[in-house]
Amino acid sequence: MAADTPPESAPPEPGNVVIKTEPEDGDDFLPAPREAPVKREPAVPLQSPVSGLQPLSWSLDHRLAVCTSSALAVMELRCDVQSSKQELSLHRTHVPVPSEAHRLRVEPSAELALAREKFSLYPDPMVRQAFLADTVMNPSVRAHKGMKYACWSPLGCGESGRCLLACLTLDNRLTVHSSHGHLEWKALVNLTQKYGERLKERRYARKDDKPPEANLLDYAELQRRFRMQTPLRMAWSRIYATKKVQPDNSCVDEEMVLLAVLMENGDLVLWKFMLPLAHKDPAAFYDLIESGVSRPSDVAWWEYENGPRRMGGLVVGSEVGPIKILPVSLSKVKGYFTVRHPIVLWKECDEIAVDNIRVVPLTHPVHKSSCSLIVASRGCYVFWSLLSVSPAGLSVQNSHIAGLHSLPVLSLAVPQHELAIYSCSMDGRIKRLTPALTESSVTFGTEDAVQPETLAGRRVHGMAVSCNGAYAALVSTQGMVGGFHPINRSYQVHFLTLKTPEAAAPLLLRSPEQNLHNATDLLDLVRWQVLKSKRVPAALQEELDRKLLEEDSPYLWRVKLFVARVLQQSLKVPSTEDKWRPRQRETKVLVQDLKEEEEEVAMEKDAAEVVELESGGGVEKKPEDYRAEVQTLINAAEMHLMRENMKKVLGVVYLNTWLPQNTCIPTCGLMDYLSRDPDDRDSEVLIGHIKKKLNKQTFPERCSLCQAPLPFTDCKQAVCENGHVWLRCVLSYQACQTLTFRRCLLQDCIARLPEPEDPEWIKKLLKAPCLLCDSPMI
Ligand SMILES: [Zn+2]
Ligand SMILES: [Zn+2]
Repeated sequence: MAADTPPESAPPEPGNVVIKTEPEDGDDFLPAPREAPVKREPAVPLQSPVSGLQPLSWSLDHRLAVCTSSALAVMELRCDVQSSKQELSLHRTHVPVPSEAHRLRVEPSAELALAREKFSLYPDPMVRQAFLADTVMNPSVRAHKGMKYACWSPLGCGESGRCLLACLTLDNRLTVHSSHGHLEWKALVNLTQKYGERLKERRYARKDDKPPEANLLDYAELQRRFRMQTPLRMAWSRIYATKKVQPDNSCVDEEMVLLAVLMENGDLVLWKFMLPLAHKDPAAFYDLIESGVSRPSDVAWWEYENGPRRMGGLVVGSEVGPIKILPVSLSKVKGYFTVRHPIVLWKECDEIAVDNIRVVPLTHPVHKSSCSLIVASRGCYVFWSLLSVSPAGLSVQNSHIAGLHSLPVLSLAVPQHELAIYSCSMDGRIKRLTPALTESSVTFGTEDAVQPETLAGRRVHGMAVSCNGAYAALVSTQGMVGGFHPINRSYQVHFLTLKTPEAAAPLLLRSPEQNLHNATDLLDLVRWQVLKSKRVPAALQEELDRKLLEEDSPYLWRVKLFVARVLQQSLKVPSTEDKWRPRQRETKVLVQDLKEEEEEVAMEKDAAEVVELESGGGVEKKPEDYRAEVQTLINAAEMHLMRENMKKVLGVVYLNTWLPQNTCIPTCGLMDYLSRDPDDRDSEVLIGHIKKKLNKQTFPERCSLCQAPLPFTDCKQAVCENGHVWLRCVLSYQACQTLTFRRCLLQDCIARLPEPEDPEWIKKLLKAPCLLCDSPMI
């Protein structure tokens, strides 16, 4: 590989000051100087104004949801290995706001009509005004249209292991959506309607089941019945493992996820989703917690893990100041204990609203015990509370970080696997807080992230950070123009880097999840650097080679393959052909398509050669040799991953086939293919075992058009003697002889759809993510 050159990065900006708010006694924390955020292209324009208080939310599967007044705009970050463009590759979809207005209902309707008449003409102006201005109770005021809030479930709840999306509109319709295929959204359940029906059946009783004494002509009662079903915020729990006892007394492991919905009156309604989701009616009522928090503002799940003991609860904040943790009964979940009483984190009613509650699990470096750090924004301050459970009992410490921002904090974000909290205020200033635990307290190292020029003077509505902390997304609009507010506003989403590609590469290689798709944001930084410099950074290459010598892990091979593919793209010049022309994606056309692409590549290669020779290139080898070398690397990495997976598939076949029984996996073809490499001892042994067991069966595949046998000569496609071409599924190696199949997100592989008559073990094989890029097969 060619030697590395220093990466192109933004010039160091002045004023990158490191501020510490706390004295440093006994604190060994020293914040490393970080580079200023660099703006990434493109800035995405929004079609309608932003709505809701927390308009941005970034999922663990790299989709950014933006609440707007017409729809929930979703942008999916993809590390496109087929593109040589340096900008971010974002796939846009949206969940529209329903056009018909939604009204919450309370019963009995005759009484409601009377009450509405009574309160709209009520003599006491305090009551009358409150009623007339209420968009929920008074039908003659038009409710605002748009999204109020959206939040993503953990990974693995939706189709193909992706995230579910809970959307709440400003007219109080709470629905849960799942993405279907590459571009479609499907509504799974309307929780507002479901809860409304439940309340009606229970005659609007409280949790204690006592029917209400007053009727709707009582203002407080009217308000109570509406507020108890008006959703304010929601939060998804982690995925819990439960046990289900079957009729024959055996236990089956099951998984569930809970969605907590905070209502206007402080009630927390918990919905249970059993996984995998049922097609019909996926949500069931789980529990109701009356928090008693007046004027609630935000909710978040709290998890505390100390060895095998776990506790769960919900942190609820109020607009007037208090924050507390409410116990959630998780008695059926393995290893969970229920907290007996609510834990008060802040009790002063100081009229500073709580928002952006985030929970950060920590291990205490001195006491070696686990603690939980809860942070929340309160005006211009960041509130923190440190909880730890020791044999002496529960200890709670809390305080505020002051002087961080001069304007109210809009958003707080905590990336996964990184001990950092990002805060952003209304003027778009971002700070990075690094908590450091000392013997008796917590200190926060703070760093200013210099504001990029493009955002200067713009009004920021929110910030979200990608799951591994590689990017921040900000949604903004024009500020004052010449001392006046602009007549027409436009809204944009900007992407900023929070890490340098040099910092991202080691994180990528050390990623605890060992899944390329889960590290998409870090991977995109590496992709960007390779495309810019047209070579693999030497540090990354060395570290990758060293790690591969230590451990032959498929994850590292995937990183290697990805980097080589991007390098190949970087050696091309962008094609001038119109990319927007739709391409047919049917099996038969694909081969022709591939030919076209080859021609295109050949043309591009010629062009690239000219460019490189002209610019001197910095590459000592001839460009064609260099490209051939990269192609060899790609082929070798693909082949390695394919062979490893073939062995895995054969191992599963070996375990699951009994006596003369047919399997649709081309077992003999796979064995012949694998045995072509004489140096692979593992596969030799495996093949020996299978041959003994299969007893001369051959499992031939036949072409469905001409019945000729399909030979196993290529692991990506099968061609019969009459020239019919079928693509092979990379998960089961069968030829896909149907017109419908799944493609991975990066579109480098295909997989067949599971059939109802497939045995369980084949269905399980087909559930795996893409072999080459780890992304879900959709
Ligand atoms: Zn044929
Ligand atoms: Zn793939």
